[in-house]
Amino acid sequence: MRDKVTGAQRWVVKIGSALLTADGRGLDRNAMAIWVQQMVALRRQGIDLVLVSSGAVAAGMSRLGWLERPSAIHELQAAAAVGQMSLVKAWESSFAEHNERTAQILLTHDDLSDRKRYLNARSTLRTLLELGVIPVINENDTVATDEIRFGDNDTLAALVANLVEADLLVILTDRDGMYDADPSKNPDAQVIYEARADDPKLDAMAGGSAGALGRGGMQTKLRAARLAARSGAYSVIVGGRIEHVLDRLHAGERLGTLLTPEQCRDGARKQWLAGHLQTRGTLTLDAGATKALTDDHKSLLSVGVTAVQGNFLRGEMVVCVDDQGVEVARGLSNYSSAEATKIIGLCSESIVETLGYMAEAELIHRDNLVIL
Ligand code: GLU
Repeated sequence: MRDKVTGAQRWVVKIGSALLTADGRGLDRNAMAIWVQQMVALRRQGIDLVLVSSGAVAAGMSRLGWLERPSAIHELQAAAAVGQMSLVKAWESSFAEHNERTAQILLTHDDLSDRKRYLNARSTLRTLLELGVIPVINENDTVATDEIRFGDNDTLAALVANLVEADLLVILTDRDGMYDADPSKNPDAQVIYEARADDPKLDAMAGGSAGALGRGGMQTKLRAARLAARSGAYSVIVGGRIEHVLDRLHAGERLGTLLTPEQCRDGARKQWLAGHLQTRGTLTLDAGATKALTDDHKSLLSVGVTAVQGNFLRGEMVVCVDDQGVEVARGLSNYSSAEATKIIGLCSESIVETLGYMAEAELIHRDNLVIL
């Protein structure tokens, strides 16, 4: 199974506060430089990388001269706002030393459950990856406090893995991996090398408890791996301080805990698309578009659509029918029904002229299409 790690082309790497800060005294820039070196090595081998990084609160506390973590949420949010600047600056300059470019993305869970914002975030991230830029993501602590409360950057990282269709989610932690018993109580506790993410036995083993700086315990990591598995991604929970951890994982070494999905990536994503959403409208396709979708597995372009029915927004699910009214596919529309009505029959190049902007060249991208 470690070949799944070796072969992964798109990685989401999540690094939590406990690892990023030198015992609460600001950011551990040396540790950051070491991970950057390893991530750069992965990039040079053609791997797409997304980094999910906490550490803003801890960095902010040190900038503000606070020795103790405040308990008031608004103070933590203020610290995060101050610290986020140092955090991205540190990542940006460390990656820049290797001529790699980074981008800051602040997200909330709501952004990813709202269909329209989901598509927007997805297009931005995909574009950044196509440009070879490394997105550095954190929760937007000003408007959401899930991570501050629950250590939920693990969950955010999993949602990002779903969003960018990552093959692999690597959660770096201050333990070597997931143990089959609590290692502080049981000297015989062993790291679990591999398990199915949905194995119910893991719940008891994940136990509770988070460190003083980071909020997330093993349970949130397990939940994150399960979420990532829904879109077919593999997850590794592994010690971030293990020497050359990312290089060695990539080389196939059995480090940390590998949690495997039950389904392959495409199957999982299509199931999610098909089962997840109510349909809001119908697009009628001409014979050319029907063939492009069903036989050639292409995206749906506006030029091949002859009629739009229903009332839908960007990001909502629509049914595609052929010229006989037979359903051939379903997918997430990049345009609302009002916009689609204006651009059907037109080639993609004319979308800007007609609407004054172009969201995407396709009406439905093939990754967001399920052929029936
Ligand atoms: N997103 C926040 C950060 O990056 C929260 C982490 C925490 O609660 O320490 O610092």
